[in-house]
Amino acid sequence: MSLQRRLTLFFVLIVILPLLAAGFIVQRVIVGEISRRAVLSLRPALDATVAIYNREAESLDRRVRSTVEDAPRFAALLASGDAAALSAHLENRLEESLDLDFLVAVGRRDEVLGYASRSPRFLPGFRPPAPNVIAEADPGPSSGFSRTAAIPVAIKGQGTQGHVIGGFWLDEDLLLAASRSGVDLSIVSEDRVVASTAAVGASFEVEVDYFDPFEVDLGEESTAAATKLGGGMAIVASTPAGPIGELSRQVLTSMLALLALALVATTGLAYLLARLITKPLEELSEGAHAISEGRFDHRIPVRSKDEVGRLAVAFNEMSGQLSHTISALSSSRDQMQRAVRRVGDTLRSTHDMKQMLDSILNTAADAVNAEAAVLWLLSPARGELHPAVARGVDVDSLGRVKVGEGVVGHVAERGTGVLLPQGVGAPMFSRHEPHFPVAVAVPLYSQERIMGVLIGYRKDSSRPFAQDEFDTVAFLAEQGGVAVENVRLHEEAQRLSLTDGLTGVWNRRFFQMQFRQVLATATRFDRHFSVLMLDLDHFKQVNDRHGHQRGDALLIEFSQRVTQLLREVDTFARYGGEEFICLLSETDVQGAMTTAEKIHDAIKGTPFGTMGDELINLTVSIGVAAYPDHGDSFRSLVEAADQALYRAKQTGRDRVCVAGPPPPDLKVAN
Ligand code: GH3
Ligand code: MG
Ligand code: MG
Repeated sequence: MSLQRRLTLFFVLIVILPLLAAGFIVQRVIVGEISRRAVLSLRPALDATVAIYNREAESLDRRVRSTVEDAPRFAALLASGDAAALSAHLENRLEESLDLDFLVAVGRRDEVLGYASRSPRFLPGFRPPAPNVIAEADPGPSSGFSRTAAIPVAIKGQGTQGHVIGGFWLDEDLLLAASRSGVDLSIVSEDRVVASTAAVGASFEVEVDYFDPFEVDLGEESTAAATKLGGGMAIVASTPAGPIGELSRQVLTSMLALLALALVATTGLAYLLARLITKPLEELSEGAHAISEGRFDHRIPVRSKDEVGRLAVAFNEMSGQLSHTISALSSSRDQMQRAVRRVGDTLRSTHDMKQMLDSILNTAADAVNAEAAVLWLLSPARGELHPAVARGVDVDSLGRVKVGEGVVGHVAERGTGVLLPQGVGAPMFSRHEPHFPVAVAVPLYSQERIMGVLIGYRKDSSRPFAQDEFDTVAFLAEQGGVAVENVRLHEEAQRLSLTDGLTGVWNRRFFQMQFRQVLATATRFDRHFSVLMLDLDHFKQVNDRHGHQRGDALLIEFSQRVTQLLREVDTFARYGGEEFICLLSETDVQGAMTTAEKIHDAIKGTPFGTMGDELINLTVSIGVAAYPDHGDSFRSLVEAADQALYRAKQTGRDRVCVAGPPPPDLKVAN
């Protein structure tokens, strides 16, 4: 059974049970009162009957006595034994006394000598009773009860000759004198009805308690009141129970109707009350169910300001908070996923160191909501860190930091991250680092080697980085370290394929690539450029005299000297052996000549070798060719320069020669 039904039933019982009890009591009281009043209403008829009886009983003796006023004559009649004459006399006397029903004359031995009666009830076998008593006639169809009085018939000097007994019947006639409509009067003897004014055929059980209190019970059918007459007789006034029963039934019906109405009304109200109580519970349980299914946007209606309403408000706040927390969590998860994806994408796709460092820095800063961040890279050779990329601070305002110095140097030296602010012994920012109250710094590792330090900052000292944020930055730094290493390896591989292994200057392949680019630009925009072909003089002899290794060192030094003399935009490459080539962009033949002379002089002017070595003097021969003067293709220009170089060699070495327009026959010969 649901809570609502149980509550409804409970409320209905609470109201209906006392109502039932009250209804029962009221019904009893009303019916009791009606009965009491009915009994009271019987009293006048009863009293009237008793009064009539008493009046007759009181005058009985006198009236019987009056029948023997002429005692001598009566005695003579008794003595004569003439029953007919005696009975005629008695008839006459009875005629005179209207209130008597019968007269009986008895002799000295109490034998009946004659009688007269108004009704045939009197029997010949009548035994005269003691005077002044109620006597019962002999049983039979005309039997009945009577009140009698016996008067002796005495003659002076002769004594009592007999008695005359007179009386009146205790019958309907007596009762009718006092009867009222709606009231039945009865005379009962020893629980037997001996006379009644009740309708012919009506009969009722009667039970009279002759002791005090005097009660009469006529069963359920009637209401009655009674008065004792003595001699086991009583007069009962009664009224049929029908009207009272009807009234009682009406009261009961009204009560039942009232109860039914109350039941309907109570059930309705109880249902509403139970609904009022269980509805919020239902809504709460629905809400809890929704939360358990992950529907955090579910809200329950707030219908009141009472305890239930406050519970609903608290529930809604809880689900709102949950929803907020979940969305914050999922947004932070999405942010993290995006960050990881971005790092992954970057690591896969880019070999551009700057772009990649930017990506690592931004990802880390976004992931932990850092207001500023700097990625420092370590230069192992110099034992210092330089700011590679920065966000929220100007990278140019930062200087280099030595390993062991400041927060960044501390992390690079120890190889472990730090969270600031920290307790005693925490590292302090050096003057080359940004100063923030809150920081998280972790090392960038690759294959056990520290590559740099990633550091994030916050301005608000009340928002320190949490341990999980430290872990996030550490994770990204780890990814970043590997990526930096990969880019460096890639750059190295790239460089190796385009540079000369010994001298580090560009190789012939790169020179060709650059040449194509410069040629395209010059052709399109009608610009100049030049090519220098350089060959060391008598280098074979240098090798022979100082050894091949020393020869290598000389080639390296030669390359460095030439590189320093050239501009950034120029390309210097080893063409093969001790032969080098220069591509001078935006340079005409005059400019090329000048540069060639400068190189020539720089080589010749200063002997080669570092401290402790035997110094060696070297010279170089240089051939110069210019676009578009000496050719308009790689091949023609390089050949022109080579020809010029050849000429320089032929004409004594240690000099610069400019290509001349190639003779038509030579071109054909090639
Ligand atoms: P010149 O050019 O003046 O005619 O005389 P040379 O002795 O320089 O003649 P050439 O250019 O023909 O000889 C090139 C020599 O350079 C041959 C070789 O011993 C030397 N050489 C070439 N490549 C290297 C190198 O990588 N290392 C060293 N040590 N020597 C090299
Ligand atoms: Mg040479
Ligand atoms: Mg050579």
